[in-house]
Amino acid sequence: MVPYQYRCTGCGDVDVRRPMGAATPRTACPRCGAEARRVYTSPGTRLAAPGLVAALDTAGASADRPQVVTRDPAPRTPRPAHPLHARLPRH
Ligand SMILES: [Zn+2]
Repeated sequence: MVPYQYRCTGCGDVDVRRPMGAATPRTACPRCGAEARRVYTSPGTRLAAPGLVAALDTAGASADRPQVVTRDPAPRTPRPAHPLHARLPRH
């Protein structure tokens, strides 16, 4: 069930829950029974968890505005060579 928003002349904006895609342009107001007209709103995509929204925003921004690295964030220390590498042929 999905909430669809309707506007009743007496009650103002009211939500009516219907199966997805089953909203009609007009319906009876659930409070007073008068005719209410559907109000078209943006989908409730911002109802996701705030952390998820922030992660999606960051991922989307990286495509348009990638962060620029000005220095090596973690300088690497050379790994110690394996003793058997000394026995490998040299060119
Ligand atoms: Zn009403």
